[in-house]
Amino acid sequence: MNYTKEIQDIAAKLFAEGKIDVFVGYRVNGFDDNQVPVLITDPQDVSKLVFTDKSVFNLVNYLKNDHTRRKRVGLVVKGCDSRSLNLMLTESQVKRENLYVVGICCEGVVDEAGQKMQNCTDCMVPDAVVSDELLGTPSGSDTLSGSYKMNADIAMLAEKPLTERAAYFEEVFENCIRCNACRHSCPLCYCAKCCIDQETATLYNGANTTSGAFHALMTWSLHLAGRCVDCRNCEKACPSHLPLHLLHKQNESVIYENFQEHLAGVVTGDRGAFYKYSLKDPDDFIM
Ligand code: SF4
Ligand code: SF4
Ligand code: SF4
Ligand code: SF4
Repeated sequence: MNYTKEIQDIAAKLFAEGKIDVFVGYRVNGFDDNQVPVLITDPQDVSKLVFTDKSVFNLVNYLKNDHTRRKRVGLVVKGCDSRSLNLMLTESQVKRENLYVVGICCEGVVDEAGQKMQNCTDCMVPDAVVSDELLGTPSGSDTLSGSYKMNADIAMLAEKPLTERAAYFEEVFENCIRCNACRHSCPLCYCAKCCIDQETATLYNGANTTSGAFHALMTWSLHLAGRCVDCRNCEKACPSHLPLHLLHKQNESVIYENFQEHLAGVVTGDRGAFYKYSLKDPDDFIM
């Protein structure tokens, strides 16, 4: 997968036609072969743009900061990223008319060791669901009625008794240092005042205790329930290398099975399971 030339050409054309103020893409890290996000404002710099299977980050996260707010933005989205963009549009966080979206029919990205990422192996929506132009060949996957692929880690955990599962989660997540890099790197965590930020915490008093940290992560994951698109931006940002997908994929599988037979962000205008509370909702999965 290499769309470097196409993306450079698109960005150059958008600047030349005066259609954008900034282009959000990827560039090669100056230190090694890995890539980092880049915000291009000078048309002379479009040659820095790249797109390969190392373009791992979800650039939609950059639509929530001051560098792009109220600007006309070009950006690149893979399938998972585009679902978070769809949710940001639905939640009125960005204006569609301010965006030029280059969608990718994604073949998967790799980690720093060159291994295909787990979310890519499991991916159910590889093609961008929002775009002004699409690069690559659509997979033809049916995003609405295609069969759900249960995450292998969640399937393994589902076999454990509830008490063992709870103990496992507490043990894994006790290594959280409450840095909040996960929430800051999630495009769907855009609240100006976040209830789990250490500095502003009203629920947890900023307490850096195991139970406080675990409680904060559980709360965070519930705020993403029915919204998380499995881009793993949060996991890539976590300095403790915690498997945050366990929280999100657990929620996703419960929601998919009980409330919403499609994945988050695939339906434009759909606000997700938490907005559709009904007294008839099943609750037998609650401990
Ligand atoms: S999860 Fe899917 S869309 Fe996202 S990077 Fe992996 S293969 Fe591409
Ligand atoms: S919680 Fe993590 S995996 Fe889910 S959308 Fe946010 S950054 Fe992506
Ligand atoms: S964790 Fe909740 S309150 Fe904090 S930014 Fe995310 S959605 Fe908002
Ligand atoms: S990024 Fe990792 S260590 Fe930091 S708050 Fe999130 S889970 Fe905890």
